[in-house]
Amino acid sequence: MSQAAIPFVDLKAQYSHLKADIDARIARVLEHGAFIMGPEVAELEKALGAFCGAKHVISCSSGTDALQMVLMAENIGPGDAVFMPSFTFTATAEVVLLLGAEPVFVDVDGRDFNIDLQSLEAAIARVQKEGRLKPRGVIAVDLFGLPADYSALKKTCDQHGMLLLADAAQSFGGARDNTRVGLLAPATATSFFPAKPLGCYGDGGAIFVQDDETAHVLRSIRAHGKGDDKYDIVRVGVNGRLDTIQAAVLLAKLPSFAAEIEAREKLSQHYDAMLKGLVVTPIRPKGTQSAWAQYSILTPKRDELAAKLKAAGVPTAVYYPRPMHLQTAYAQFGGGPGSLPVSEKLSGEILALPMHPFMPEETAERIGAAIKAAL
Ligand SMILES: *Cc1c(COP(=O)(O)O)cnc(C)c1O
Repeated sequence: MSQAAIPFVDLKAQYSHLKADIDARIARVLEHGAFIMGPEVAELEKALGAFCGAKHVISCSSGTDALQMVLMAENIGPGDAVFMPSFTFTATAEVVLLLGAEPVFVDVDGRDFNIDLQSLEAAIARVQKEGRLKPRGVIAVDLFGLPADYSALKKTCDQHGMLLLADAAQSFGGARDNTRVGLLAPATATSFFPAKPLGCYGDGGAIFVQDDETAHVLRSIRAHGKGDDKYDIVRVGVNGRLDTIQAAVLLAKLPSFAAEIEAREKLSQHYDAMLKGLVVTPIRPKGTQSAWAQYSILTPKRDELAAKLKAAGVPTAVYYPRPMHLQTAYAQFGGGPGSLPVSEKLSGEILALPMHPFMPEETAERIGAAIKAAL
């Protein structure tokens, strides 16, 4: 019996729901012609601030640029150490090296997949003892959409005078202790890459900060380091603006975003119920709301399960098959195989299932049944 292919992420279903508004907003940009920093950009920044409660929103060209610009605003560079989980996407490490600073890879918690505080504190102590690098910042990654424990991380960062930056590329729309992502850390970077929970139709991102001066510096960095006018260059910057058309797309998507997060939550609970006892399902730490960018399970039979699901028409993905401290480009900054055992074990057992807000219940049932049959 042939069944329709199941999409891993269904952007077409979302477009068909929002088509009238998306098309009208894009058409308006084509008419007014302000493709760079048009009125939609400021309108989006205001709407994102209202959504998450952040005082300042600086939209930008990608999640990667968002991370890099925050580090630039802090003058992080050669001789500086920036701590981060090894179990993350490459962008988290890449931006640190691009600025001439060094990433220090830290292990993650085996159940919530976020940075492990004990491993972090041990790494800070090690760097201080060695004396070669100055501890300057921590990038916590909200993996798969689950916000990290920012109140605990903030204490550690304050104690050492370090920047705390949230890599919230996967978690915008999530919350912890009744506070939305964007307001949990002093600085937050998110991504609007199409497959993220809130995605545009190209590359895009945003930075959320509370501090007025940092916001001012970030707006300058975003536009080549401009001062009072665009030919007065007061610092080294980048070309980091969000396109007006992408802002228009996001303005059309934002009003239904909270309902989409609820739909993701519902699907995650459906998966939980179907998969209990078969595989290790994600945990929900007290007071947290994940944005469910991914629903990732753990099983020692990961590769076998993924192959059987593929044969049954169920797509899966592995985030991430190799931790950063074992990547060719970054290995020299890590302690080699065996140094971060939790990240290494997870990379062999993790498997992400199809996750999006438009999945019909029958499709979820079909995925659950395919997993049951495969194990
Ligand atoms: C997607 C992602 C990024 C990068 O975002 P882009 O918009 O693609 O540059 C950074 N960190 C994490 C954890 C991500 O998932």
